[in-house]
Amino acid sequence: MTKAIGHFINGAIIPGKSGQFGPIFNPALGEQTGQVALAHAADVDLAVKAAQAAFTNWSQTTPIHRARILFRFKVLIEDHMDELAALVTAEHGKTLPDAMGSIQRGLEVVEFATGIPSHLRGSYTPQVGQGIDSYSLRQPLGVCAGITPFNFPAMVPLWMYPMAIACGNTFILKPSEKDPSVCMRLAELFQQAGLPDGVLNIVNGGKEAVDAILQHHDVEAVSFVGSTPTAQYIYQQATKHHKRVQALGGAKNHALVMPDADLQQTADAIIGAAYGSCGERCMAISAVVTVGNDTADQLIETMQPHIENLKIGPGTQQDIEMGPLVTQQHLKNVLNHVEKGLEEGAKLVVDGRNNHGQSQGFFMGGCLFDQVTTDMHIYQQEIFGPVLCILRAKDFQQALQWVNENPYGNGTALFTRDGDSAREYVQQVQVGMVGINIPIPVPVAYHSFGGWKNSLFGDLHMHGHESVMFYTKLKTVTARWPSGIREGKQFTIPTLT
Ligand code: NAD
Repeated sequence: MTKAIGHFINGAIIPGKSGQFGPIFNPALGEQTGQVALAHAADVDLAVKAAQAAFTNWSQTTPIHRARILFRFKVLIEDHMDELAALVTAEHGKTLPDAMGSIQRGLEVVEFATGIPSHLRGSYTPQVGQGIDSYSLRQPLGVCAGITPFNFPAMVPLWMYPMAIACGNTFILKPSEKDPSVCMRLAELFQQAGLPDGVLNIVNGGKEAVDAILQHHDVEAVSFVGSTPTAQYIYQQATKHHKRVQALGGAKNHALVMPDADLQQTADAIIGAAYGSCGERCMAISAVVTVGNDTADQLIETMQPHIENLKIGPGTQQDIEMGPLVTQQHLKNVLNHVEKGLEEGAKLVVDGRNNHGQSQGFFMGGCLFDQVTTDMHIYQQEIFGPVLCILRAKDFQQALQWVNENPYGNGTALFTRDGDSAREYVQQVQVGMVGINIPIPVPVAYHSFGGWKNSLFGDLHMHGHESVMFYTKLKTVTARWPSGIREGKQFTIPTLT
């Protein structure tokens, strides 16, 4: 065991006051490689005080000044891409190219944030009354906080704090306790880019740290990404404590495959989206609904040999397609789901319940279930592992109904050559992010990311324009100058003509 990770508060790494630590594993080795401090309320309070103090000056800096620091941060991320990706792979397990791709998707939000002088532009209407003008502006909230999941340890935090900070706020990040190292390194790079001390702070820890954030009366807003039960808890607690909140939850993302789809392309797209990152993506495809039995049979025939021969191994090795799961416990949970599917009578076409020649680490292979029905546990629950379920619908309407009846509404993809079905799907589906022949429709940084139903609690999505709205409050000014002031007192409500 080598690493000891503390907190990053007011520009310095400190060990924290709790004396409690959680283990960090390398999932490909199955070994503990370090430990992370678990913050108490006192550590959180220290971070909030630092962020509050920094807010006084930071909120008064010009947007272009903030944009220039973000530009330097962007360049530093690019310069350190290999090092950052290695940190992600060492603690999460995903392959190095996949880790780089995820950091790139976070970097794109930093790029979007560099446009903050333009994003923060207000609106102005001259002459709303005689000699009277009106304008609206957006101002920062104060201290904002982010609580993030293990599966994208760099990307998801980068969806939050660059935009919050660009808007003039200061920030407390509470990363996942499973893979915190990359966040700590990114904070150092942001500091190197010129970010003043206290603007970005990191408190490591688990539930106790989160509860201290949710209950702290000087935290104005909370962004959360994680599982649905935690998202519901965060939403309830944050609103109870009068905070603005966006809480993104779990998913069961459906691919709907029409009989006219190009099945070879569809199979390739689904395999990558289901088994990439070992299924630990909130936008992973975990359920395929085929329209018609022939479509299912042909698709399975095409996919099966690929799934059986996935290249499985440590994410640091070349040409690996699927790395390990994040922890031993998570591996056990996923295997339990597979057992449950068998008990329920689903047909396990590809059985990946073995370590695929890996003598160490939290490895399993890809599993493919056919004959899954909507009442089964393996369909209703988010498994968050390399387990794909095939459901057979009789027609498009039944397939659409199943997708809409599912409690999650994060992402979905339709595979078809038919524009009419595609248009109907886009119009009718109750899901926040839709792909047409695109398996993982993660919106680009200048659009916004978020699901519907049990995949998001709150009103506004992440990054893009919605993040400017989330991290600022609106002020509207109506003004006149002495030359426009009319004589006398007015006792009726002002109407402007
Ligand atoms: P998680 O809910 O277990 O943990 C997320 C964060 O909440 C972590 O920082 C953790 O320390 C904290 N936390 C956990 N339990 C808590 C509790 N009881 N009280 C307070 N805080 C708590 O999620 P995870 O296992 O880290 O991540 C995987 C989940 O995240 C999956 O469900 C996945 O779908 C979801 N996810 C969603 C999105 C999205 O955009 N919707 C993106 C990525 C991941």
